[in-house]
Amino acid sequence: MGLLKKLILSVITSLAFALCSPIITQASPLAYSTERLAGQDRVDTAIKISQKGWDSAQTVILCEYNDYPDSIAATPFAVSLNAPILLTKGESLDPRVVQELKRLSPQKVILLGGTACLKSAIEEKLDDELSMDWERIGGVDRYETSVLLAKRLSSNSMILANGDDFPDALSAATFAGIKQIPIVLSSTTLPDSVTKYYQTAAPQHLIVIGGEAVLPAKELAKNNFTIETRLAGYDRYGTNAEVVSFMKSTYTSNDLFLASGITFPDAVAGTVLASKFMAPLLLTEKDDIPPSVYGIMREHMKIEPPAPVQIPSGNDNNQLNQGKITASGGLNLRETPSSSGKVLLTIPGGTTIELIDKQDQWYKTTYQSNTGWVSADYLTVTTKNGFITASGGLNLRETPSSTGNVLVTIPKDTSVELFGQQDQWYRTTYQSKTGWISASYVTLGTTNNGNPSKPIDLSVNGRVYILGGTAIISPSSQNIIEGKTSSNYKDNQKNFPPLPSEIKSPTPPSRGDDLDPPPVVDPTYDPSTEVLVNPFEGIPANALVGKTIMIDPGHGGPDKGAIGSTQTYEKDNNLAIALALNDTLKRAGATVIFTREKDVSPAANYSEIEDLQARVDIANQSKADLFISIHNDANAKSDIQGSSTYYSEDNPQKNESQHLANSIQSAVINTIKTNNRGLKQAGFYVLRNTTMPSSLLETAFISNPYEEARLQNPTFQKNVASAIFIGIYNYYKTPLPEA
Ligand SMILES: [Zn+2]
Repeated sequence: MGLLKKLILSVITSLAFALCSPIITQASPLAYSTERLAGQDRVDTAIKISQKGWDSAQTVILCEYNDYPDSIAATPFAVSLNAPILLTKGESLDPRVVQELKRLSPQKVILLGGTACLKSAIEEKLDDELSMDWERIGGVDRYETSVLLAKRLSSNSMILANGDDFPDALSAATFAGIKQIPIVLSSTTLPDSVTKYYQTAAPQHLIVIGGEAVLPAKELAKNNFTIETRLAGYDRYGTNAEVVSFMKSTYTSNDLFLASGITFPDAVAGTVLASKFMAPLLLTEKDDIPPSVYGIMREHMKIEPPAPVQIPSGNDNNQLNQGKITASGGLNLRETPSSSGKVLLTIPGGTTIELIDKQDQWYKTTYQSNTGWVSADYLTVTTKNGFITASGGLNLRETPSSTGNVLVTIPKDTSVELFGQQDQWYRTTYQSKTGWISASYVTLGTTNNGNPSKPIDLSVNGRVYILGGTAIISPSSQNIIEGKTSSNYKDNQKNFPPLPSEIKSPTPPSRGDDLDPPPVVDPTYDPSTEVLVNPFEGIPANALVGKTIMIDPGHGGPDKGAIGSTQTYEKDNNLAIALALNDTLKRAGATVIFTREKDVSPAANYSEIEDLQARVDIANQSKADLFISIHNDANAKSDIQGSSTYYSEDNPQKNESQHLANSIQSAVINTIKTNNRGLKQAGFYVLRNTTMPSSLLETAFISNPYEEARLQNPTFQKNVASAIFIGIYNYYKTPLPEA
């Protein structure tokens, strides 16, 4: 799938810019870039959000700017129409909204709420001046409005939230938008309209947002509501965190959206945009990030920011620096700092050593009682850096004392590496001279890899879109998210467990300074070893007569999918396999339909969500018997290999989908002999929104050099196609028992 491609690109980008980024010292373990979507007022903010997400729109939803209850349940409906939400005063259409409507040029405007909140003057304006069709959706109260909106969606699930305040419904809005589940609003007592809707719609899954106090179990039981899941925290932020963690697999974006948990209207328009981005919406206080939400933000990150430095005081700490040997064959410890120095011994690869001193590109260290020098080129070094703050520069002295001999004066703002500490003195090296500087004129930073300007590309962590101006989410909250200042919450200052480090910089080819080359991890792929498989071995010709199979080669056009290390694109491999599958299926007598047969996106105007929706539309309109999506997998760890096949529990034919995915997975493993990564369940958009049995094959890892080469081989591509065909045949041959 495409998610990792961004990450891989980011790592590449980070390497490219490795030498020109400033040192960042984190005050908080969060490290996101931020972008504010905010206008002068809430009307303007909604317009800014609309401009961010839409070049044009077929439908626009209009809400009264003070009337959150009517609009809060609108997100799933708006997402289903890909419609931005705009706000206006109720008496007349705000002139700025008129401008925005002209820009979007919708065919239809939906007025949300009754004429009491959006007056008929607005209808007239739309009719007479803008000549836009409009429709009004409004119940007698917020609860009935939510029911009317729910009826516009078809889902076997329902989200129930208390509509007397906004945060709980808001917390669920993005998830509901992405999954197309209606949000129905209730009070602590169930309104008749809601009870009636529940009885008629009879959803299989009921998700209740908020605790006993807002939606009492007794009241729900009395009306025969069966709760499948209740998501509730100790407060609105706790509930928000519960909702986002529960629905984690739904969000495929690295980005996050942040809205005020106190002031409502800026968030409503943002929920639709967040859904489009497949990103969660988090709630916050004005000046700080509540711990429950902070925890989610931290978990959502992909890479660690540079840690703040804590230099222990005391004179027994002589070693501030550590290095890890990257040369897999080990690294020579030499008597002198030179590649011609006598080798004392070889330190094994992976060993962490203390660095005592540095001279040019050599570090001094002690290993097994031998003290000598190792080449800096084969070390991952965690260095403590100091910046000289003394305006006239700082003296480097021979001894840790203000009476020590001055060796040289280090200019202000110079970054130096600190190797040790004695009382208030740091040991450092400058211009090949090693000595001591006063700690009073040094501020600390930390860097990795010994290079003081080695950056970490934190953009991998994604962006936080802040909905609303500084009056509702202040710059101090923003600074905490960016890692510039610390949160005042004690819980946010704890030591967070390290991130799963999904992303690691690719290791450079590792070799000791003059050692034998390390063993090759990935054997080179020899295309001639691939043997063409006969798909019809044991399968009759015409085995699939009467069947219509929809083939969905993943990505295409502007979306390259994952990218291999030799710049091969997933989209091309997917298409090649799909075309080979077409041949095989036709030989078996099946009718074949494609979501794309060329290097294009099936969407008229490409965006990720519209691309996926177009695939779903083509499939559902075609009334195909099966939907097969073909992808390559990718992972930041390049040694990972293998195949997996997915189905979704949200597909209306989930049992058949599982059976299909299982048949394909088995045939793939048998045929192409990749690592079996198993049958998997996930809510991929194309799997959960197609109406026929659907499965998605992650053929092999384009991020693995061996499999990347294999994916390029036409024989392999044909064999994958044969495997899918055999899987389809077995699916029909051994049908599921009748339910
Ligand atoms: Zn893919």
